[in-house]
Amino acid sequence: MDYQKILENIYATLKGHKSTGKVATYIPELAKIPFSKLGMHIYCINSGHYHIGDANERFSIQSISKVFGLTLAMGILGDDLFKRIDVEPSGNPFNSLIQLEYENGIPRNPFINAGALLIADVLISNLKNPKKELLEFIRNITNDYTIISNSQVSNSEKEHSHRNASLLHLMKSFGNIKNPIEDVLDLYLFQCAIEMSCKELATAFMVYANEGKLINTNQQLLNPSYIKRINAIMQTCGFYDEAGEFSFRVGLPGKSGVGGGIVAIHPGVYTTAVWSPPLNPKGNSELGMIALEELTSRTGLSIF
Ligand code: GLU
Repeated sequence: MDYQKILENIYATLKGHKSTGKVATYIPELAKIPFSKLGMHIYCINSGHYHIGDANERFSIQSISKVFGLTLAMGILGDDLFKRIDVEPSGNPFNSLIQLEYENGIPRNPFINAGALLIADVLISNLKNPKKELLEFIRNITNDYTIISNSQVSNSEKEHSHRNASLLHLMKSFGNIKNPIEDVLDLYLFQCAIEMSCKELATAFMVYANEGKLINTNQQLLNPSYIKRINAIMQTCGFYDEAGEFSFRVGLPGKSGVGGGIVAIHPGVYTTAVWSPPLNPKGNSELGMIALEELTSRTGLSIF
């Protein structure tokens, strides 16, 4: 398969697409990113790396970081984690408070904001230096030790975090948050502000496509049964209240973020990441969704 040619064709299709999406302005630093950035990377287990456009430029990974947090928390608590958090699609916006109220402070899944905030709480309770350990984990699976969190982005979000703080207060009122609200919010905003390129995301997610093994060394880093579960949660909950639509159009497990990034995996075959900042009304990259739909249609390589 000529992946480079396929990428070039997808790129041409996207460039000809008149976007109606909007960048996430509620994080002022993100609103400064040029609308027109567009990059895509494919990492095939058998044949290596292919990329196009701005695939090597770092951007704010935002909610994609929720996959990394979940991975660490599962490693710490195992199945006990799921006493405090569910694994059902929410069918609600990522920062919704309503469901949390009538479900007694138990987040629907780890990939909505309430769930990721709860995971941050678990990491604080169990790790000596959660920021450092989370970053080290990401650097290790990416094999890149220069990855950092952008404090300008996290500070800019901090000033507009009333809704995330509300989610935390509500969960704490049900006894499901154990640490001070400010500490949990601080770790959560730190992880959202981590910056990676499409190439780095595709590389990091190879551990999820490769049964928990690092591809370079073949080291079994993560428990394969956790990988199975994390991939299942990506499939059912990775795209806010558009998870069904993404499954229907693309047919891969994945995760998006309001920085305009989407990463998706085909276990045993490839990983891919795409970046285009304008978001559709559900908060997913508008062109990113089209790019991945084009990819699985043109290659015939989806999990279904
Ligand atoms: N930091 C963002 C927030 O909490 C992440 C949202 C996202 O990427 O879905 O609103």
